[in-house]
Formats: sequence, structure tokens, C-alpha cells
Amino acid sequence: MIIDVHTHLFGKGWIPREFFYGVARFITHDFAKHGIQESNQTVGDSIMETSDDPGGEMLLAEMDEAGIDKSVIFPVDFGLPLGDPEVPIDEVNKKFAEVAKKHPDRFCAFAGIDPRRKGAPDLFTRCIEEWDMKGLKLHPCAGFYPNQQEVYALLEKANEWKIPVLIHSGAMMVPLRSKYSQPVYFDDLGADFPDLTVIAAHCGGTLGYPQMMSIMSVKLNIMADISAWQVTADKSYAFFCKALRDLMDFVEPERILFGSDSPSFRSIMANKDWVQMLKDLPKKAADGTSFTDEEITGLLGGNAQKLLNL
Ligand SMILES: [Zn+2]
Repeated sequence: MIIDVHTHLFGKGWIPREFFYGVARFITHDFAKHGIQESNQTVGDSIMETSDDPGGEMLLAEMDEAGIDKSVIFPVDFGLPLGDPEVPIDEVNKKFAEVAKKHPDRFCAFAGIDPRRKGAPDLFTRCIEEWDMKGLKLHPCAGFYPNQQEVYALLEKANEWKIPVLIHSGAMMVPLRSKYSQPVYFDDLGADFPDLTVIAAHCGGTLGYPQMMSIMSVKLNIMADISAWQVTADKSYAFFCKALRDLMDFVEPERILFGSDSPSFRSIMANKDWVQMLKDLPKKAADGTSFTDEEITGLLGGNAQKLLNL
């Protein structure tokens, strides 16, 4: 069983345009190196157009191609820092719940809410109790720290319902801010909610993973997903193998989960290649590292299946 614990669906008017223009900066920066001049707006509009997948059909096809059985899908709420998009956040959450309801064997939906929104705890309650969503996704880079009061109001509910909370960690592109998602803030979540399953998305980022690893070694309720690590693996396979080996040795292999952050990195590495790279680790790990079949089976889905009761 292969489970991707970190994917997004984008629909028209679900996400502020500014977010896509920030993503576009990376691409135009790269284009410029090759002498191609394109504006962030043109590239951002094109990303928005090509990633439009409100019903999840494109993601399903990608999962089929990669052999991924099930994906956790969730919205991101960037409305407070970037301006609310056309579709209100409660409607966006409801759409994710509907997609999961339509494909219950393939998708599991988490709610995505900025905890500083007026009525955030009520919306969260509706997502879980009325719409049957299974967890919560938070993106602190929108401008809040994971350990601040408004967040705790939601974490207390998640703790009571015994559902997982996935929180972005590590660096984030403009116009969002990386200071909010540093691994150190996850330490408080371990201290204050020792029984809550917290998933540190991206495990602090491939370059920030040592700090997250240090916190995870003492805060045992914190898990991590390796979404976005395919970007690092693409740049340096040896670095990636060493980082993953460190995580398994100094945390526990059972607390590391597969993720893709699809559709974000499709153009860098297709999910079928990302899955294949992980499957091949027991035979083709970089020099000085090794992985067992059991570790990789757990990473790809066994661990998530147990943790998320999928
Ligand atoms: Zn993501």
C-alpha cells in the first residue's frame, strides 16, 4: 500500500493569485539564466491554469501512474496575508470534503484553515463533524507561529478528536515568511500536546532537517513527511540518502512518511519517478548508506496506514 500524505488540489479562485506569482519567481529566475525573459505574472497565470484540478482527476491519473493507492488532500489558507480569493475558505474546505467523499478509497481530506480567522474553531468543527474530514493542515508561513494561542484553540479540538495535524515546516518562498515555520516551534507542540499526532511537513526542509530531527528525537508525537525532498534528491542523490538515513537512525523509521506535495514539483520529478527512486533504495542507495525493504515499505505507506487509521 502506497500512501501520499501530502497533496493539494487547486481550483479556480481557491488560492490568492499572489501565491502563484511567488512560485513563478523561481521559474522566471531559472528562465533568465537561459536568456528567456518572462514576467512572474505570465508564468504564475500559466501555473494556475495548468494545475487546475478541482475534482482531483489529474491527481488520480498521476497516482495511478505512480502506483499510489491513497492520497491525503488538503487546502491551504493564504487569504489573510495575500487577500481572500474568490471562493471563501469554508466553501473550499467543503469542496475537498466532497472530492474525498466521491473517491473514499483514494482520497482522505484534511481541513485547511488559518487559525486567526474569526470563527476558525467553528469552521474546523464543521469540517470534522459535518463534512467528515480526517485531520487538519496548517501553514504557519501565512503569518502565525505554531505555538500561538489561536492555533492552540484548534489543536485542543484535534487532540480531543484524536485526529492528526499536519503543519508546514522549513523555508517558504515569497511573499510568505519562513520564520514562522522553524522546527523549534514544534517543540512546544510536543510539550503541550504529547498525545496529539503532529506531522511536520517536509521535516523542516531538506536543509533544515537536523533541527527537526533533534526535536523529534525527544518529542515522540511528532512525525515527518518527506514531501519536497524529491527536489533535493534530484539535485544531490547522495545528500538525500544521507539525510533520510539520519532520520531513520536518529528518530525512528516508523515516524517518517512518504509525501509528494503534488502538484508543486511535478515539473522537477514526476511522482512515478519519486516513488520508484524510494522503492529502489534497498538496492541502489548512495555509497555509505543502506535501507532495508521493511524500512521502505513502512515509509511508502505502512507507517501512514497505522498512524492515520487508513
Ligand atoms: Zn504542501
